[in-house]
Amino acid sequence: MNAKIKRHFWNHRTTHRSTRFFPALDANKISYNFDHDSHRMPVYRQAVFSFSSIAITALLLLLAITYVMAHQYPLALVVAVAIPPMVWHCWRMARYGRHLVPAEALMAATVATLLLTVYYQQYANIYWAPALVVLFHFILSRRVAIVFNLLLYGLLAPVILNVLPTEPAVIMLLSMALMSVGAYIFSVVVYRQDQLLQKVAVQDPLTLAYNRRYLMECLGQTFELHKRYQKVSSLIMLDIDHFKSINDAFGHGEGDRALKEVVRILQQRLRRTDSLFRYGGEEFVILLSETDSTHGYQLAQEFCGLIKKARILPERVITVSCGVAELSGGENPLGWLARCDEALYRAKHGGRDRAELA
Ligand code: GH3
Ligand code: MG
Ligand code: MG
Repeated sequence: MNAKIKRHFWNHRTTHRSTRFFPALDANKISYNFDHDSHRMPVYRQAVFSFSSIAITALLLLLAITYVMAHQYPLALVVAVAIPPMVWHCWRMARYGRHLVPAEALMAATVATLLLTVYYQQYANIYWAPALVVLFHFILSRRVAIVFNLLLYGLLAPVILNVLPTEPAVIMLLSMALMSVGAYIFSVVVYRQDQLLQKVAVQDPLTLAYNRRYLMECLGQTFELHKRYQKVSSLIMLDIDHFKSINDAFGHGEGDRALKEVVRILQQRLRRTDSLFRYGGEEFVILLSETDSTHGYQLAQEFCGLIKKARILPERVITVSCGVAELSGGENPLGWLARCDEALYRAKHGGRDRAELA
């Protein structure tokens, strides 16, 4: 994407300084295709994971130095071995927002290191446990976090009861349990809000089709795929004919219902790899992946027929006009949209209820 288009696409977004070290927090890099990527790590978890990785690396360094000074060389060696991959992992996260070590592996290694130090009678390390029970809930998926919590609890409780006098030991275990449950509840609420936010960010509230903001993101991605792999894609711009008169004759409520019905009919016919966006009031864009203009044009004609045939309003036949354009080399997303719009304009001027190819 050249700089001008990039500016046009992203100028409504903001970049905070904190995102330099925590790319996971960078709104510009958040991907909205939650539908196709259900395994995406929520943004808040990525952010806490980045922070924890840096903190754990610093702690490892500190531990290694401490053990060398205490002449506990086997322990120092175990800790030191983990430092280089962790530094690489942190660098990758800061630079590319991608992790090297999976969150589960990092947490498992942390627990193992903690248990090892306890085995070597470094009992003061049991005081790391309260921080860990909370961290688990913010880094791991909910089920895995519960398993890790039970594991840590089960393995450390006997040690805590053994090492500390009974009263402080019981208080520590109870406070750990409280923190863990609190963090679990908090993580569930944040997770649900994250899901809702993702949905609201991409969806048109009336028709439940994708919105224009998400269209711009998808066009940008499609453009990059075309540039890199010459992937063929087509756009259909579809506009309901004389919609204003439908509103005037039947009222806004019926107009809204007609919009929803048109979307339902289009969605039924589309493939899973195609996406439908509400571009404006009664104007829609359909992004067809792996589809050339010939097939795009056939599909647009089919849409015209389907909408016309459907009895959306009892006393009025609704028709649509379509413009079709295939993404061509040397063209940016805005140029592609403009060509599609121009084809739609020709369809309107050619008498409506038809499709025109750019
Ligand atoms: P053309 O065939 O040239 O497209 O004519 P048109 O009447 O469809 O186009 P025009 O742009 O003149 O009018 C679009 C209308 O769509 C005007 C506006 O009131 C209506 N509209 C836009 N958004 C909504 C909506 O969310 N609900 C309803 N009911 N109407 C809407
Ligand atoms: Mg119209
Ligand atoms: Mg219009």
